[in-house]
Amino acid sequence: MADVQIRKIEAYELPVLEAAVADFLANARGSRIKRCKRVLLKPNLLGAFAPERAVTTHPAVLEALIRYFLDRGKEVWIGDSPGGSVNADSVWKTCGLLDLAERYPVKLVNLSTAGFRELEHAGISLKVSEVFWQCGIVINVAKYKTHGMMAFTGALKNLYGLIPGLVKTEYHGRYPNNRDFAAMLLALYALTGPKVNYSFIDGITGMDGVGPSAGRVRNFGLLLGSTSIPALDYIAARMLGFSLRDVPYLLPALHLDGILPSRVSVPTSFRHFQIPDADIKAVKFSADLLKLVPRFARHGFNKVYSIQLRVSTRCRKCGICVQSCPVQAISAATATRFPSINQNKCIKCMCCHEMCPHRAIDIHKSFVARMVSS
Ligand code: SF4
Ligand code: SF4
Repeated sequence: MADVQIRKIEAYELPVLEAAVADFLANARGSRIKRCKRVLLKPNLLGAFAPERAVTTHPAVLEALIRYFLDRGKEVWIGDSPGGSVNADSVWKTCGLLDLAERYPVKLVNLSTAGFRELEHAGISLKVSEVFWQCGIVINVAKYKTHGMMAFTGALKNLYGLIPGLVKTEYHGRYPNNRDFAAMLLALYALTGPKVNYSFIDGITGMDGVGPSAGRVRNFGLLLGSTSIPALDYIAARMLGFSLRDVPYLLPALHLDGILPSRVSVPTSFRHFQIPDADIKAVKFSADLLKLVPRFARHGFNKVYSIQLRVSTRCRKCGICVQSCPVQAISAATATRFPSINQNKCIKCMCCHEMCPHRAIDIHKSFVARMVSS
C-alpha cells in the first residue's frame, strides 16, 4: 500500500503551507530525516520564469520547507540544473530563489556545475549530480504540469534536473522519442528514487494545455505529497484525466516498486476527484499516435506525421532555443530573420518549446495529427 496525501490550498499563503508541509512530512521516511544534517530541496526550476507563470515550483512552497527544516536544526541546500545553457543567476532571481537566499541561511546550488557521478541501470548510463549524493535528506518539490513530450510532468520527471544541464540536452538527442526517453527516466528513477525521502507536487497553480512552459496557467488549488514517487505521479496524472498508459513511465515505475495502482490510497474526499475542464487533449494525442506505430518506424513517423515546431514573430532573438537543441536543428537569428528550425533534423524533443522564455515557439499539427486528435 502506498499513501498519497492531498490538500486543497487555494493560494500561496505561508502559514497554510507550513501547516500542510509539517503534516505531510510526518509521514516521511523517518530515520534518515532525524539522523542527517543536510537537506537538498530539489524544485522544478526549468528556466528563468516568474512564479506566476506556473512553470517552476513556487517559492512560497520552498519557503515553508526551508522554515520546517531550519526549525529542526538542518542545513538547507536548494539545487537544480536549469535546462540547456540557461544562466543560473537569472533563474535564481526570476524564480524567487534569490529573495529566499537573502532572507534565510540557505545555499543555492547549480547542479549543472557541481560535478557528477556516472551510474548505470539496465544498460543505461547516466550522469547524476554529485550534490545529490552529498545530501543525507532529499526532498523532491515538483510542479504540476502537462508535458508536450511525456504527456505529464510531476515528481518522477523532476528527477531529470539531477542531471547537469548540457548533459540533459545530450540525452534528449540520445533518447529522441517518448518511449526511449521513458526508459531513460525509469533508469534514473531506479538509481536515485530510493534516496528521495519525500516528494511534493505543487499544484496550487499548475499548467494544462501544451506544457511544461507554454501551456495554460491553472489554479488547481492542490498540494500533493508522498514517500512514493510513482504513486504520487499516478494519482496526480489521474486527477488531470490521464490513464496509466498515457504517461509511458508510470506503470513500469509502479511495477519497479511493487505497487499495484489499486493499492494506492488517497484521502477519501479525493477518491474520485477530477480536475474540472483539464485541457490534456493536445499532449495526449502524440502518445496515442505513437502507440499505433511499430517501434522501428517511430523516429521516421515523428519526423513526418506528428507535429512541427515553428518560431513565431513573438521571438525576441535571445538564442536560448538554439543552445537548447540537442541536434542543432535551429539556426541562429540574424538581424533580419528569426531563428529557423530544420524540420528534417528536428526530433520533436520539445526542448526549444520548453526553454523559450517568450512562448515564441508554436506547435503545428500535421494533417494526419489533426485528423487523429480531432
Ligand atoms: S524562439 Fe524563444 S528562445 Fe528562441 S530566440 Fe526566439 S525568444 Fe529566444
Ligand atoms: S528544434 Fe526544438 S523540438 Fe526540434 S530537436 Fe531541436 S529542440 Fe528539439
